[in-house]
Amino acid sequence: MIDGRAVAARIRAQVAREVTTLTERTGRPPGLATILVGEDPASTIYVANKRNASGEVGITDLHRHLPDQARQEEVAALIEECNSDPAVSGILLQLPVPEALDGAALTATIVPEKDVDGLTPVSAGRLMQGAPGLRPCTPLGVIELLDSYDVELEGTQAVVVGRSNLVGKPLSFLLLERNATVTICHSRTRDLEAVCARADVLVAAVGTAGLIGADHVKPGAAVIDVGINRTEEGLRGDVDFDAVTARAGLVTPVPGGVGPMTIAMLLRNTVIAASMQQERGER
Ligand code: NAP
Repeated sequence: MIDGRAVAARIRAQVAREVTTLTERTGRPPGLATILVGEDPASTIYVANKRNASGEVGITDLHRHLPDQARQEEVAALIEECNSDPAVSGILLQLPVPEALDGAALTATIVPEKDVDGLTPVSAGRLMQGAPGLRPCTPLGVIELLDSYDVELEGTQAVVVGRSNLVGKPLSFLLLERNATVTICHSRTRDLEAVCARADVLVAAVGTAGLIGADHVKPGAAVIDVGINRTEEGLRGDVDFDAVTARAGLVTPVPGGVGPMTIAMLLRNTVIAASMQQERGER
């Protein structure tokens, strides 16, 4: 079993040391501006978790909260303010925003240098072209887990189930960057089971509890479960964990697998962003 909590704890400790070094060098700790619009309960919890984790590693909490009724121009103006504030190293607009707002258009206004979620069109384009840039946190977390458990990626068959801009697509490009042979599956894929069963590395990012069973898994494969599904039995992944463990070489649990990695990678992205801004300032 892959222990995401342990890997995430190691990364957070490493980030804390990097924050100390950066702060000593520059005289100012990195700052993370989480932006929450409205009162969505799940988003409120996610943002609170991100703020707590940032504080623990010494990143300054520059959280901003706007009311449910905030207009598109008001949110855009706040992002613009954060874009030009040197105390802000990273900006995270918590999605989804209230229905009256265009979340994608707002995300696109974040300057790429502060795009610690890696979700702006510029960051996505840089990833696709293999150019340097900030990468999305959950896909980074998946790669980090695979690396932590010494899973070979070069030349292997990797299958990613799910093609969202948040997880499936960026993860596929990260795996490609690491020289895996990548297949992307989605809701129209024919014979999903047969495609998945070819994978040395299988990643499920769908949002359907237990979709991936033992027959989807090649013996010895590394299986990474990104899915988070709230069921009557509690939190479940996209992978039928009990069925798959007997067949897989490695498998992530839910909770305790990919979940803790997302925030750890956000913290690391914030430090990377702060370092890049610092270096640019010195030049
Ligand atoms: P999403 O935007 O809803 O995308 C789901 C993807 O799954 C789509 O590409 C969809 O295909 C595909 N799909 C749906 N049913 C399928 C099926 N039966 N067979 C094959 N593919 C199917 O979801 P997301 O934002 O990527 O998130 C996916 C899951 O990961 C969710 O459970 C989410 O909660 C979780 N998540 C976890 C973390 C974390 O930190 N652990 C972070 C982000 C997301 P089409 O494109 O054809 O519709």
